[in-house]
Amino acid sequence: MGLFITVHLDNTKCPSGCKKCVTICPVDIFQMKSGKVFSDEMAEDECTLCDLCLEVCPIDNIEIQKHY
Ligand code: SF4
Ligand code: SF4
Repeated sequence: MGLFITVHLDNTKCPSGCKKCVTICPVDIFQMKSGKVFSDEMAEDECTLCDLCLEVCPIDNIEIQKHY
């Protein structure tokens, strides 16, 4: 988890083939590994809080927490 920002998602719920968050995030927080989407914990503090991932996720699967 990031020091200032945590990006949560449950990749067991993602519809097969969805990578909308990976595509839209301007700072590449989301990464694909073995066909599943993960949040790159080392990059989470780079999140700009633009909310684009929240808007494109079809199942409301992403939660962003600020720790400040
Ligand atoms: S809020 Fe914006 S910067 Fe942060 S993870 Fe989502 S798309 Fe990326
Ligand atoms: S946009 Fe939502 S459903 Fe699609 S890969 Fe990202 S977290 Fe999963």
